[in-house]
Amino acid sequence: MLPLPVLEKAQSELTNYKESGMSVMELSHRSALFTEIIEEAEQHLRELMEIPDNYKVLFVQGGASQQFASVPLNLFGEKGKADYVNTGSWSKKAIKEAEKYGDVRVIASSEDANFTYIPKIEKSMIDPEADYVHITTNNTIEGTAFHEIPDTGDVPLVADMSSNILSERMDVSKLGVIYAGAQKNIGPAGLTVVIVREDLIGKASKSCPVMLDYKTHSDKGSLYNTPPTFAIYMAKLVFEWLKELGGIAEMEKINREKAALLYNQIEASRLFSSPVEKDSRSIMNIPFVSPSADLDVDFISQAKEQGLETLKGHRSVGGMRASIYNAMPKEGVQSLVAFMQNFEDSNQ
Ligand code: PMP
Repeated sequence: MLPLPVLEKAQSELTNYKESGMSVMELSHRSALFTEIIEEAEQHLRELMEIPDNYKVLFVQGGASQQFASVPLNLFGEKGKADYVNTGSWSKKAIKEAEKYGDVRVIASSEDANFTYIPKIEKSMIDPEADYVHITTNNTIEGTAFHEIPDTGDVPLVADMSSNILSERMDVSKLGVIYAGAQKNIGPAGLTVVIVREDLIGKASKSCPVMLDYKTHSDKGSLYNTPPTFAIYMAKLVFEWLKELGGIAEMEKINREKAALLYNQIEASRLFSSPVEKDSRSIMNIPFVSPSADLDVDFISQAKEQGLETLKGHRSVGGMRASIYNAMPKEGVQSLVAFMQNFEDSNQ
């Protein structure tokens, strides 16, 4: 979802942005009007996430999936060693990609229990010689999340925050690199945000493609080539919406209320249950199951008739999954909870 006020604002400016007679989609990425958009977008993000000055914000393309390669290509020094935490399907993909470029060690995994929990990461587990440690802060498919950022000492921590960036307060200074595909909490697909500590820029291997090198985009203010201009404009509007709402602290409060509504319903239910361990629960993606796959199918199709969309769990896990990203209003969760109760009452 995108916030409705954002879509309406974009609609009102769609054909004539700031009296230019052009749509943002038609502006040159080197025009004054677009320069203002990208600079404001970065500034809003810096304020929202309280990004320290020694970090660069990059607006790139290729999705989080491309970062699975960019991260090792930029951070593997002479050692070419990294420690990864395997907490789900997306972590696995990141690991598989990094293995092409160096020595990857999986220091903790919850695969033994279908990724239903987040393993504890102790500093002693980390190879002090590693170029970086990689975690996925929110596991979109499995519905788990790290509740604290692990302490990796002097080894830079890299986080895939695709599905929980901007949803709760995060101390950026504890991380070396943060990356996220925009399409959950930032804006439309096509844009990827990378936040990288300056000392980690300029170390890319010689074979790193120019488009994957953080230095390329850092040196040129994300304008080395044509960036996804409309997606950046939409992200700017989303950041403005979030600031107006009260920033990330306020957003986090609302997100926790939404997640609690849904988890309370699941816990009180005699029909539905959660596969996720209580202290590893995500507040963005909430999976739940009924006692049978047939009942799950009925639930999803009847929910759709009520206008409750996209509740099917990922094909690798089955059951249901409610993705309640920032733009999902509390009323949306209330409708889902009411529908779950009705469904339960008529399936005793
Ligand atoms: N990591 C996580 C945690 C994700 O949720 C996703 C997308 N669902 C990806 C990576 C892949 O993102 P993209 O489609 O932007 O490549």
